[in-house]
Amino acid sequence: MKTNKADKAGLYVHIPFCLRKCLYCDFFSKSGSDENLQKEYVQALIREMEFYGSRQENRIKADTVFLGGGTPSIMKPALTAAVIEALRKNFDIDTEAEITIECNPATLTKEKLEEYRKDGINRLSIGAQSFDDDVLKRLGRVHSSQDIIQTVRMARKAGFGNINIDLMFAVPGLDMNKWKASMNKTLELEPEHLSFYSLEIAEGTPFGEMLRQGILEETPVETDRSMYHWAMETIDRAGYDHYEISNAAAEGRKCRHNMKYWTFGEYMGFGASAHSFMGGVRYSNICDIGRYISSMSNQDMSWGESFSRQEHAAADCTEMYHVNSFEDSASEYVFTALRTKEGVILEDFRERFGSRFWDVYGRQRGELESFVRSGHVISDSRHIALTGMGIDISNRIMAIFV
Ligand code: SF4
Repeated sequence: MKTNKADKAGLYVHIPFCLRKCLYCDFFSKSGSDENLQKEYVQALIREMEFYGSRQENRIKADTVFLGGGTPSIMKPALTAAVIEALRKNFDIDTEAEITIECNPATLTKEKLEEYRKDGINRLSIGAQSFDDDVLKRLGRVHSSQDIIQTVRMARKAGFGNINIDLMFAVPGLDMNKWKASMNKTLELEPEHLSFYSLEIAEGTPFGEMLRQGILEETPVETDRSMYHWAMETIDRAGYDHYEISNAAAEGRKCRHNMKYWTFGEYMGFGASAHSFMGGVRYSNICDIGRYISSMSNQDMSWGESFSRQEHAAADCTEMYHVNSFEDSASEYVFTALRTKEGVILEDFRERFGSRFWDVYGRQRGELESFVRSGHVISDSRHIALTGMGIDISNRIMAIFV
């Protein structure tokens, strides 16, 4: 089984700090801006990068870097610069690499943006979520709609020519008119990339608790789907390529890093809770900032040289370690490829797995064909992909291959 044909990995760095937790958020992050903790955390990140960099006979080649969170832009620029420098020192990063940082509008300044440019960061992903100030308040966001506009303007001035804007729909307080207004304001800013997600209320979040107590209502499925389909048509008219269920890009601006997740590429994650997929092994770090920092400072740098070594599982900071079987890999490949417009390319499947798709999934053919007849799936001699209608029931269709 082969992973990404390009043979270059993506590097992900998790920065688990936010000014304040949003009410719906179940990402691993901690609120507050304790600068000493951030410094210690960055030192631990550098140790982890040195660890993986030094244990490889052949340095890992990467062509994308993604600083995600949390809110990476909360950190002082010197800390961000130290992270990027350590990545460059320990890995072979392409000169043309896509280097993204996730930002919250309330955390950026002209100086920070200029520093990012100097560090070689060439893509900003801005967590806007909505352009309606009431909705932003209800979500517990720390910024206003004006902050978003201001941030995009500052970023353009600082020379950023590749900007993503994240939006959410089906959120409390958002009706169709407000959704349309948010999307239209986003398009006026002419971002190169757009992500639009439907809110899923997770247990353990304040929204989850409000839902349990009956103070909050979920958006009806019909409204959720109307918002999604309206967005799909609008971005299409605006000339964007809707290349993944929740993502659209101007020409040549697909997110190269995220494409690794959807095309079975390799990636290595650093930091608390970060996930990796290298050499057919999936593993993740612990979701605990203190334990992550202490395990990195105790790390024995001398053990192991290959990703497949079971000793990895014994490392203090590892939470999950799983060696993929053929079935795991084939099903993950199909599951993620179906999220993309291209879907599963049958020839690519054969090249990676050394077997023809229908030889592996012959038993699922009948069920899939019923979705073709109902207009939810396209299946021909080249590929298998979801239609616009199919996206609405994507979980049901993908479940065939799990
Ligand atoms: S800014 Fe992002 S990561 Fe931080 S709390 Fe809000 S949604 Fe979560």
